[in-house]
Amino acid sequence: MFFPSGVELRGAVFRGRPRGGQKAVDMAKKLPRCECCGRVVHPDRYNAGHQKYCKGAECVRERKRKRQREWFAARYAGDPAFAAAARMRCAAANRRRRAAAKACGKQDEPIELFAVVTGLLSQLTDTTDPSQLRVSLRRYQDRGRRMALSAHLGAGPP
Ligand SMILES: [Zn+2]
Repeated sequence: MFFPSGVELRGAVFRGRPRGGQKAVDMAKKLPRCECCGRVVHPDRYNAGHQKYCKGAECVRERKRKRQREWFAARYAGDPAFAAAARMRCAAANRRRRAAAKACGKQDEPIELFAVVTGLLSQLTDTTDPSQLRVSLRRYQDRGRRMALSAHLGAGPP
């Protein structure tokens, strides 16, 4: 005898779901497993055929990396102008890296302390705007003077 799900029969409701909680449901439905971590994936019911990864942060990141790798490889193979631009970008990055490595090798050159402070402040404040850097440098100079003065007078830091 056939009863559609949710039909009421002598006070009992048949909902057509197996008993035993979520684990039993997972086993009964043969849910797919994440291609990254291997855990069971609960796909969106409207997009079930396309979801191969779970919602874990590392799996989402890996999926994005994979998608970007595939997109780049396809574009690189199919678009000569894109490939040439990518090679030029890579070559420029290699030149910068080699120049930086070479600069690090100059151990005997004296270090300019002001340039170091400016570079450090530029990185800490995430700006390359000279006027903004100058304002920050002045503030730190004032603070440094106050600290030096208070240390001279024996008081605590400002
Ligand atoms: Zn996963």
